[in-house]
Amino acid sequence: MSVETVIAGGTLVTATATVEAAVAIDDGSIVGVGNEQSLPDAERRIDATGQLVLPGVVDPHVHVDDHVSIDSYQTATSAAALGGVTTFIDFGWQAYDGPESPWDDPAPLAEGVEQKRTNAEEALIDFGLHGGILREGDDLFAEIPDLIEAGITSFKMYTAYEFGVSNGYLRRVFDTLADHGAVGVVHTEDDSVCQSLIADLQAEGADDPESYPQSRPPYTEAMAADDAARIARETGGKYYGFHTSCRDAAEVFDQFQDDGSQIRAETCTHYTALDDSIHADRGTLAKIAPPIRSHDDVDAMFEYLERGVLSVVSTDHVAQLAASKEDRPWWEGPYGANSIQVSLPVFHDEAVNERGFSYPFLVRVMCANPAATFGLPNKGTLDPGTDADIVLFDPEKTQTITAEDNASKADYSLYEGRTVTGGVTKTLVRGEVVADDGDIVADPGHGRFIEREIPDWDA
Ligand SMILES: [Zn+2]
Repeated sequence: MSVETVIAGGTLVTATATVEAAVAIDDGSIVGVGNEQSLPDAERRIDATGQLVLPGVVDPHVHVDDHVSIDSYQTATSAAALGGVTTFIDFGWQAYDGPESPWDDPAPLAEGVEQKRTNAEEALIDFGLHGGILREGDDLFAEIPDLIEAGITSFKMYTAYEFGVSNGYLRRVFDTLADHGAVGVVHTEDDSVCQSLIADLQAEGADDPESYPQSRPPYTEAMAADDAARIARETGGKYYGFHTSCRDAAEVFDQFQDDGSQIRAETCTHYTALDDSIHADRGTLAKIAPPIRSHDDVDAMFEYLERGVLSVVSTDHVAQLAASKEDRPWWEGPYGANSIQVSLPVFHDEAVNERGFSYPFLVRVMCANPAATFGLPNKGTLDPGTDADIVLFDPEKTQTITAEDNASKADYSLYEGRTVTGGVTKTLVRGEVVADDGDIVADPGHGRFIEREIPDWDA
């Protein structure tokens, strides 16, 4: 018996250990791990000498090809592949009515899911979808069982913006999701407090970019996170907190860890690698919500990641052109930052090189935990029988980040000019090399839509 591929000579990193071993791959799956001599002969041998062999990164929070992000599936999944991301979870959106809505009429959530699923023909990596709830309607509740059956096992709500929902509606959704074991994910900022602060700053004429974070301070994020967490606990629902940016919000999640409630949360690369000095340095290009916070908040992200209160690092990737964000007051123009192509090297540099975290920690927060949290048992692991989604990572390679290298349609980078040590050299999705030394080497359409399972958070 022989297999298609063996990756040998490198150091495997799992969620619990690093080990000198080889990986055998056949028909898209990992079929063996161990001493190279103990594995079957292979048609192709990939030499990983001097490299780390990681499970592919699972990014559970990205925005692609929709009303907030100009990337196509081809550009976003190319950026992902170059960055070692082999699966991401995007959103199927429920059309709503409103002044800023790109839709003409409200429509069922299932239509948004179907529309996004057609992007599989452009995708290089695998993807799942969260159900994106953008209005308060009774029609949603009849859709939820069918959507879960179709592999949409998590649903996102906002507490801010014109498509935010009330706490009462949030409660109804969590109550329904709890019946199925599905996950509620929430963008948490207290909208009315933020709106009042925006109005005050506008009245003062505080239009400099450094004033932007004052319009969405940490306590507004903590207030809304606390509301969502209390609702989740009362309904028995699973709640995953999106883009935790500050100590105040992490402290909220910490209070729900030992009381039987099912509450998990992420932070994003930029909240671990950038601080609020960026608002002076890069102006409105750095406008994201929640805002990039203080240096103490950056430290807090690592403290709570270490303790497991925060268990995932995502990107919240959003592609926009610099021209749409710059040269206007901060209260105009789109939110969002693109980083999926550099998230692994940037977070590796911050966590492992600068702060001394281990490689298994890196694999837990970027690969294993997001996969387990969102019902992807074949992802985020190097266990035999799972998908051969694998990244070769050279821990000594240095690179200086520039938007000129962006595969995303976004034409700027908040990390422009930053030199990091450690870089992706190869990315395999289900056994096929999709990115090799900075080049895309597979054809669009290799990626698949993944129907996710109901996750077991007690496991
Ligand atoms: Zn987002």
